[in-house]
Amino acid sequence: MIQRRKTREVKIGGIKIGGKNEIAIQSMCSTKTVDVKKTVAQILALEKLGCEIIRIGIPDPDSAKAIKQIKKRIHIPLVADIHFDPNLAVASIENGADKIRINPSNIPQKSLVQIIEKAKKFNVPIRIGVNAGSIRPLKEKITAEDLVKEVKKQIKFFESLNFRNIVISLKHTDIFENIKAYEQISKFCDYPLHLGVTEAGTLFQGFAKNAIAISNLLMNGIGDTLRISLAEDPIEEIKAAKAILSSLNLYKKAPLFIVCPTCGRTNIDIIKISHILEEKLSHIKKPIKIAIMGCAVNGPGEVAQAKYGIIGGNKSAGIFNHGKLIKTVPEKEIVKEFIKLVEANEK
Ligand code: SF4
Repeated sequence: MIQRRKTREVKIGGIKIGGKNEIAIQSMCSTKTVDVKKTVAQILALEKLGCEIIRIGIPDPDSAKAIKQIKKRIHIPLVADIHFDPNLAVASIENGADKIRINPSNIPQKSLVQIIEKAKKFNVPIRIGVNAGSIRPLKEKITAEDLVKEVKKQIKFFESLNFRNIVISLKHTDIFENIKAYEQISKFCDYPLHLGVTEAGTLFQGFAKNAIAISNLLMNGIGDTLRISLAEDPIEEIKAAKAILSSLNLYKKAPLFIVCPTCGRTNIDIIKISHILEEKLSHIKKPIKIAIMGCAVNGPGEVAQAKYGIIGGNKSAGIFNHGKLIKTVPEKEIVKEFIKLVEANEK
């Protein structure tokens, strides 16, 4: 059982992170923010899949203006991502952003004052999001210590202005530096931590890097919200986040599937069946364990530990509840009968 670090609670629109709240899943739109129609469509698709907080890039005043329109049509908190220009942060807050993410490394401290004052007035939290790529001066190797030093400097500045409505991230592309940086900052302050590995890469490499770094931190109780950064459709980021959290028993809103990889002993199409069941049971928002197994080698052992299970036979399968055989059905009826059983019990 993971003992989570005690952090302050921060409210982002209708969602709270930190404290005793569940770890919130975030993503970032890949659309142009000024294209309100496309941005809203992407957010709605992400929401449907389980995204709980969405971030959009605000590179210019028109993007800041678009926040108003976007906010009217979505249902999750909206975070405005600002670099270089403090006026864009101020305009984003005025237009209804639920949180601001700034990278203080690229905004001079004297300009931060106006953002902080505006955030105070509107009760909007700020994420101090430092990335290895924006640390200055440029050098060959940015270390965890560089990230921590930068974040500490910024925290002190924010606190000197009596602003503590803060979330912190310090992302590195190197997972060892990334983990070290988060561990160090978690000992220094109790602000909620937003986990992520920056510029992690395309699907497989990106997922691997994120899973290693983020799981390592989460297993040590560190982390209050996360974004799995992938050079992919952001839908994949949500799937990846849910998979990582589920594997650590930290995701309570979806079933956890145990699926055998299949081999020469399999006589039913386990892979197809598990894909269909994952999709058809996605409306069940509970962390129930479901084992889908190809044969009697490991089947009985896994099914006994799951709430619902399938063990493949010869073009047929046994359907189980709490390890007890409920019925044996031919292959073409497995999906239908299994869904019937799960839905009858999980209503
Ligand atoms: S459970 Fe059976 S079918 Fe699945 S991988 Fe193991 S031996 Fe093969």
